[in-house]
Formats: sequence, structure tokens, C-alpha cells
Amino acid sequence: MDASEFRKRGREMVDYIADYMETIDKRRVTPDVQPGYLRKMLDSRAPKKGEEWEQIIKDVEKTIMPGVTHWQHPRFHAYFPAGNSYPSILGDMLSDAIGCVGFSWAASPACTELETIVLDWLGKMIGLPQIFMHDSGLGGGVIQGSASECILVTVLAARHQAIRELKNRFPFVEDGVLLSKLVGYCSKIAHSSVEKAGMIGFVKMRFLDVDDNYSMRGYTLANAIEEDRKLGLIPFYVCCTLGTTACCSFDNLNEIAHVTERENIYLHVDAAYAGSAFICPEFQHYMKGIECVNSINMNPNKWMLVNFDVSAMWVKDRHVLTSALTVDPLYLQHHHSDQAIDFRHWGIPLSRRFRSLKLWFVIRSYGIEGLQKYIREHVRLAKRFEALVRNDSRFEVLGAVTMGLVCFRLKGRNHLSQRLLRAINDSGKIHMVPAMMNDNYIIRFAVCAQNANEDDITYAWEVITTTTEDVIASVDI
Ligand code: PLP
Repeated sequence: MDASEFRKRGREMVDYIADYMETIDKRRVTPDVQPGYLRKMLDSRAPKKGEEWEQIIKDVEKTIMPGVTHWQHPRFHAYFPAGNSYPSILGDMLSDAIGCVGFSWAASPACTELETIVLDWLGKMIGLPQIFMHDSGLGGGVIQGSASECILVTVLAARHQAIRELKNRFPFVEDGVLLSKLVGYCSKIAHSSVEKAGMIGFVKMRFLDVDDNYSMRGYTLANAIEEDRKLGLIPFYVCCTLGTTACCSFDNLNEIAHVTERENIYLHVDAAYAGSAFICPEFQHYMKGIECVNSINMNPNKWMLVNFDVSAMWVKDRHVLTSALTVDPLYLQHHHSDQAIDFRHWGIPLSRRFRSLKLWFVIRSYGIEGLQKYIREHVRLAKRFEALVRNDSRFEVLGAVTMGLVCFRLKGRNHLSQRLLRAINDSGKIHMVPAMMNDNYIIRFAVCAQNANEDDITYAWEVITTTTEDVIASVDI
């Protein structure tokens, strides 16, 4: 494809994307296909000769689209939102075209510098203390590919710091022995990526009980630490979740931070979803105690209109992170290393895309006020949905509705709600996913679509109530 054909095909693609977005509600939200459907439709070998673009693009609608779950669909209420907006898509286009690999400042100065500037913007927008900013010279923000990656690198940083301190005290004890003593903590409803980070990092992770509000409390953590110290273990890491995946509950950061400060333990905050809401001052109270944490992550690619993959992470002391992740072969060195940031030392991969472009485009296009409006509208719609559920005595709402998520269930045994959700999802009319809250099976209703409105809420509730009637009629309670 040459530049003139690219211009033509590019325009067609933009039209295809805009048409897709504008007519997405005419499609089924979830695909009606079985595993292996695509293999039956496509050739089992790659083409020997290049094909016509027209033929390729025809196959998108014929073979790919039937197997797509439409995350941007107004009837999609599963998981959490997958951020998306036109400025973000354009940012990705430009990033792909520039095609730089910004692992160091020298590898593409603008790529590194824009990332530091935009993460300072965003850090200030969500109310982080100045020490977390690049312009403090101490901490700073970095874009990782996912919240899971953020959590993993913080476990690695905390582990490195703990082993180094222990080595000073016990220089003749093997690293492996010290490692076997380390223990980290999170709540039972922290995201599974914390457990995975423990697995990869080869450190024990304890999953602590939550209170009646699904919140991990300081006293629970303090008791666990005391028990573990008595057993000869060495507490080194805590992950505090602000906005849990199951029900968007908030651990008590302020209490937890008191404990980790007293005990000299690394404290990380995972605010993957709810972190975007902190751009609204009325939600920043959940971050009380933030000045005491070592690091925090939030995903603009969930709830801030930015396409995957932009997971923002800030550290208070950049050296704690970089000293755990630095290897420095000659071919990657450059003569500005002393004054410049090299993001390859802030994460696992070497190669990095120019992801800050789309974040910059989005923040500049919407402005802080536009983004606040978007968040507040989602929260308002979630409250509207909550009111509908609470008005129907067959249902109950579990947990507080604070953001864009409502967790509800049919009163009674779990299998009723299980059947209900299965029937709704099978219909393809709306899409939701379940979670467990203590022993209760709940259905999660997340407000996801960028332009979600009252009609979408009304429609979803109609589907839920009509399906409920069918399920109740068919189930032997
Ligand atoms: N943490 C929380 C609270 C989440 O809700 C999620 C995903 O929904 C994650 C971490 C993992 O996010 P990612 O897919 O970016 O790794």
C-alpha cells in the first residue's frame, strides 16, 4: 500500500469506524457464536500472494464482527468500562504512525517528555501530593500496560527494598532464605492480579477479611502483621484497593497507612477503576492518607475515555522502583542519562509505545471539566439504576453505590440470580457479569458506554424485570 492508497483507505476506515460507533446499538451486544467459529470461516494457511484491500475489509464485516463483543455498546454493562473516544483513537493512530520505541529519553525525547508532563497533569488532577510529580525531582508517574503490571512492579520494588535492608542486617543469610520470610497483604476481594504478583514475585500474599462494608480495615491488617511477626515472617508489602472489582468498595486507606508507616512496610494503592473519579473533588476523600503511600495506580483506559493500554502509576521515590528494575547494557546507554528519565527502568518491557499522546489528546479535548462531567453522569445513572432496583421488593442491592457500579441480586438463594443472569446474557439484549460478595452471588451492573443515558438504564431494567418474571415462573424455589 502506498501513501495515496493509504489516504483513500484511511478515509474509508475512519468512515467505517464512525459508522460502527453510530450504529453500534443495532448490533447484538454479545456475539452468538461457538468456540472455533472463526477457524471454520478463514483459510488455514496464510495467503501466498498479497490480497486486495477490498477483499480483506469485506471479511471484517463477514467474519470478524460476528465474533465481537461490543464493549462500546450502550447495552454493555459488564466488567468496568473500556475507555474509548475519538481523540484517543486519533492519538493511537498518530502513535502508530510515528512508530517510535521510547525506552529511553534518547530513543525519542518527545515520547518520554510528554509522558512525564501528562502524568504530572493527571497526578495533579486526581489530587496527588506534589512529591509524586516528576517536577518534584523525587517521585513521578509512568504509563504501564495494565494495572496488573503496575501491581507486579510495585511488588518487585518492595521486595527489592526489603531484601536490601535485610541484607544489611543479616549479610550472611542467603537471599532465598530472606525471600521465604517475606509476606504481603491485601483484602480477600482485592483483584486477582495481587495474588498473581505474589506468585510471580515468589512471595507469600495473605488475603485479609473485610468489614461489613467490604472494606479492609487498619486493625485487621495490624493483627495479621502481629501474628506473622510472631511466626518469624517479615511483612513487606500491602496493597490497598480503592474501588474493588467485585463491588467498588474502598479499603480504609487512612487507617492502613497508619499501620504501614508504623511498621515500615511498602504501601501500594490500586485504584484501577475508581481512580478516574478522583478528578472530581467530591471523591477525593477516599484518598485520605495518600501522602503516606509509596505508589498508586489508576487506569485512564477504564474510566477516563482513553483507549487501552494506558495504566498510570505514580511513585513517591523513583529510586525505589528503578533500583529494582535497572539493567544497563552499553547499547541502551546515552550521554543524557544523568538528567533525563529512561522509562525502561520503570517497568518490565524494554519497548514502549507513544501512549501519552492519546492521554494528552483526551485531556486537552475534554478538559478537566469535560472529564468530570462524564464521570458524574455515570455516577448519576448508576444511582438511577439503584433506585429502580430498590423499588422492586424482589431484589436487593449489596454494598454502597458510590461510583458507576450497582451490585444487586434476587432475594433468596444464589441459583435464582444465577439463572437470571444466564437468561439475560443468553438473550444478547444486555450484558452483565457476576461476582461473589461474601457468600452471595451478585449481578454487577456497570455504566460503561461513553454516552450512556436514561433510556439505556430504563431499557436494561425492562430486560431485567421481564426476564425475572420468566425465571421465577420456571424455577422451583
Ligand atoms: N485492579 C482492579 C481494582 C481492577 O478492577 C482490575 C480490572 O478490572 C485490575 C486491577 C486489573 O486491571 P488490568 O486489566 O489493567 O490489569
